[in-house]
Amino acid sequence: NPKRIAIYGKGGIGKSTTTSNISAALAETGYRVIQIGCDPKSDSTNTLRGGKYLPTVLDSIRDETKVRLEDISAVGFKGVLCIEAGGPVPGVGCAGRGINAAVELLQELKLFEEFKPDFVLYDVLGDVVCGGFAVPIREGITDEVFVVSSSDFMALYAANNLFKAINKYASFDGALLGGIIANGLSAVYSQGIVDDFANRTGAKVAGYVPRSLIVSQSELYGQTVIEASPESEHARIYRQLAHYIVENDETVIPKPLGVTELRNWARDWGDRIFEMEAGVVRQEAAI
Ligand code: ADP
Ligand code: SF4
Ligand code: MG
Repeated sequence: NPKRIAIYGKGGIGKSTTTSNISAALAETGYRVIQIGCDPKSDSTNTLRGGKYLPTVLDSIRDETKVRLEDISAVGFKGVLCIEAGGPVPGVGCAGRGINAAVELLQELKLFEEFKPDFVLYDVLGDVVCGGFAVPIREGITDEVFVVSSSDFMALYAANNLFKAINKYASFDGALLGGIIANGLSAVYSQGIVDDFANRTGAKVAGYVPRSLIVSQSELYGQTVIEASPESEHARIYRQLAHYIVENDETVIPKPLGVTELRNWARDWGDRIFEMEAGVVRQEAAI
């Protein structure tokens, strides 16, 4: 049976970048991988396919009476099968229902039986973990959930909401948490913030991806870092992350913080960062 992973996170935090690099790293070692974008932005798999957009499942269901697998999928870097669930017509419909429709169509087309993947990665928008976007956790569609987060409050806020959703469905056979993927770290204190949040919520940190120009440059080339700069430090980091996902069989029910608790925790960090920065300025002045 394939290992089915959902990767959540707030919009723009680096879900698709991270997911695509993990897919690429898995595929280059010979695994059969399917990546399914579950974000109305529909650009999840672009860097696996030279920056090109794919027709989405939802658009195809709307436009065609009979949808074939070749209408809604394309083979990307090292054989990764790429699919985009797509989004509703702006102003109409539910994105979450779209994810369901996409998954049902893939079942109907017997995708998993025919392609026989080792890994299926769902790249899911996690700004609002409403019933719709929680479908991959809720409906037995995935086994393990990861969340991409930076050390910014809004990103951790979204992660905390995801933890609430996982918590809620845990007793109904929902998917459990594999870990946090810390992305876009740049300041000295960033890692400390994510580690502390992980500690308090009972989550593990699966890996740390620093902010880097290599990532931006690869995206401009329409490629993953694994493809554009296979020898780079960042390629090594993404391979390590992929390895973590292959090996990990430990999942937890996270303990989300209450709204006030999260607020107070963030405020404490605000004070500490201010003191840390002041310390750096004093040190520099002394030199
Ligand atoms: P999401 O899928 O969560 O909406 P994307 O993966 O599309 O986010 O990333 C948003 C932007 O941030 C992209 O331009 C991407 O290249 C950039 N980005 C993501 N991770 C990093 C990183 N570690 N270093 C530098 N840029 C990054
Ligand atoms: Fe939007 Fe979520 Fe409601 Fe669907 S369930 S309409 S995606 S808020
Ligand atoms: Mg994305």
